[in-house]
Amino acid sequence: MKNNKNIYALFGNPVEHSLSPVMHNAALKEMKIDARYIAIRVENAREITRKIKEMNIRGASITIPHKTAVMDYLDEVSESSMMIGAVNTLTFTDGRLEGDNTDWTGFTLALKESIEIEGKTFAILGAGGAARAAVFGILQEGGTPVILNRTVTKGEKLAKEFGCDFHPISEVEKIKADCLINSTPAGMFPDMEISPVRAETLSNFGCVMDMIYNPLKTRLLKDAQEAGCSVISGLPMFIYQGAEQIRIWTGLRPPLDLMKQVVLEELTNE
Ligand code: NAP
Repeated sequence: MKNNKNIYALFGNPVEHSLSPVMHNAALKEMKIDARYIAIRVENAREITRKIKEMNIRGASITIPHKTAVMDYLDEVSESSMMIGAVNTLTFTDGRLEGDNTDWTGFTLALKESIEIEGKTFAILGAGGAARAAVFGILQEGGTPVILNRTVTKGEKLAKEFGCDFHPISEVEKIKADCLINSTPAGMFPDMEISPVRAETLSNFGCVMDMIYNPLKTRLLKDAQEAGCSVISGLPMFIYQGAEQIRIWTGLRPPLDLMKQVVLEELTNE
């Protein structure tokens, strides 16, 4: 493996069920880039930088639970990643490791396909890395985020950092907003009958986005559709954040339609 210049990788724990390898390998092949993208399970963030340097990995995606911890081992971190407090993209060039965050750009691109962000209010469920990217993206685009979280101290801390309102998630029925965004894993495969909020509360929102993409239609999105809301799955965010990673690594424009098609095939074949 040493000195192989053509490896890209996903680091996280777990990584076995990720669709990033399918999506990235299809894109790299179509782009005629002589490279492969592999998934590597790592126990700690220190291991990520060690492996990147040992294997000369050109670029990496970072997933749960290392998005914040890995920042301590980088030579440079983008301004947006610093503000979000997480990176999901690493680039290794000339012995230097740089960190970026494409979750927020992927999120805003996906959201803007369905709803204008400027001047609108967004109720965000969760206060983890994905919620932080969403809050940052909404503020960048001139929207107003409202944070709802299960652990009050964590939600309050995030709200204070970005100057937003906070409510415990148990009070979601009191909130009215243009759009509700789920950035918790509640409802993700295999717990597909779970929803982070009761169906009765969904008529408070015109639009509901779930960042989960497996399943494509979560319990939350099914309930939202029944309540008359427009719905957005986590798939477009997943594709856009991955496409932006390829653009950062190669400087080239990735084949979005193909990336979406291969991920959809995997999701519908399960
Ligand atoms: P994280 O850092 O672990 O944060 C998870 C958040 O969800 C925490 O605030 C946690 O609340 C809350 N939570 C967990 N289980 C819950 C439950 N049963 N009920 C209510 N709240 C619950 O995770 P993350 O990195 O932000 O990722 C969150 C989700 O976003 C995952 O499903 C991930 O797959 C998805 N995501 C999707 C994309 C995409 O491209 N579509 C990109 C990034 C992330 P506490 O603070 O109380 O623990």
